[in-house]
Amino acid sequence: MAKQSKDSRCSFCNSPKQDTLMLIEGMDAYICDKCVTQANVLLAQELGNKKSKAFDESFRLLKPAEIKAHIDQYVIGQDDAKKVLSVAVYNHYKRLSQKIDKDEVEIEKSNIMLVGETGTGKTLLAKTIAKILHVPFCIVDATVLTEAGYVGEDVESILTRLLQAADYDVAAAERGIVYIDEVDKVARKSDNPSITRDVSGEGVQQALLKILEGTIVNVPPQGGRKHPDQKMIPVNTNNILFICGGAFDGIERKIANRLRTQAVGYKVKKDEADLDLKNLYKYITPQDLKSFGLIPELIGRVPVLTHLNPLDIDALRNILTAPKNSLMKQYTKLFEYEDVNLVFEEEVLDFIVNKAMEYKLGARGLRSICEAIMLDAMYDTPSDEGVKELHITLDYAIEKFEKADFKKLKAA
Ligand code: ADP
Repeated sequence: MAKQSKDSRCSFCNSPKQDTLMLIEGMDAYICDKCVTQANVLLAQELGNKKSKAFDESFRLLKPAEIKAHIDQYVIGQDDAKKVLSVAVYNHYKRLSQKIDKDEVEIEKSNIMLVGETGTGKTLLAKTIAKILHVPFCIVDATVLTEAGYVGEDVESILTRLLQAADYDVAAAERGIVYIDEVDKVARKSDNPSITRDVSGEGVQQALLKILEGTIVNVPPQGGRKHPDQKMIPVNTNNILFICGGAFDGIERKIANRLRTQAVGYKVKKDEADLDLKNLYKYITPQDLKSFGLIPELIGRVPVLTHLNPLDIDALRNILTAPKNSLMKQYTKLFEYEDVNLVFEEEVLDFIVNKAMEYKLGARGLRSICEAIMLDAMYDTPSDEGVKELHITLDYAIEKFEKADFKKLKAA
């Protein structure tokens, strides 16, 4: 064993001991923490290449209808978005299996934009798709991204996440899928292009363009800018499918304005009466995204635009019971572990849904309302071995709900 002293240096990068986090001793050599990390990345890349070959051999194409059937088990309603996503994911796979040198027509990738109120299932859709994919998948939040040089994460960090999801198998990451959440938050604040820099908005959009369009990006394997000397990994984004999602709060007004001017312009008053005013999202066009503050170049690189519908009372009721891992099924399972048969009376389900509607909590609120009702039962049951059956009645639900701190629910 080499004997460590304060003069010891890493045998790979020659860094002195005091510049390292840790210096590991070998027979006649030392290795520092940074070199261990880099060696790990190299090893993962090599192992990854082998795995990619195995992937190509086991490749199976799910049909769009099969993809949708799978999503149906977890996501209620939103048929338009489900269809668009199923087709996009299917075509993505098709593109990946295309041998370009033989085929004349190259299929271009179609990044997707999901627009819909918060809590209507955008992230859930993306996550559910991830479950059936045989490609690496990651979710990133656009709000943490900033233009290079500012505090926050560079857009390259998106690809770091994807690489991590792919266990540093670059070939696999290069055909992965990325969900960029809250993309509306990087909208330009005013409709007029500004010559001054807008750190959070337009700069990020410009930076995103680069990776969306298909280029080779040098990605820091560990993310961040903390290790300036870390080896960058070149990643080609040409085959990476990007799904963007956002609530675009207030975009209904812009849609309504556009529809109104159109209606007046073409003198088609009747059409205006046919509009579904409760769900203007379904008339969304790329022009509305532009009025909202996305730059035209970005809109052009995300050509597939689809919407999610607001959830009505029936949808909320279904969300409570129908999905494969619905809240009701989760509570039943939890109590099953205690050997207790849990039964909710139908009126309780209506009560939960009505409260979620009343307080405008949407699907996200269902969980907080259920938690408020179930907390005492979940607290007491494990210590009470005599209980074999638990009926949640309307009176019980109302009592527990009223006892709960409502402000807490609103914050959910
Ligand atoms: P968004 O990304 O649109 O803001 P999420 O997908 O995060 O909303 O939804 C929040 C929660 O609400 C999810 O975890 C899910 O439990 C529930 N939910 C929302 N929409 C649906 C839906 N259409 N079907 C089933 N569950 C849903």
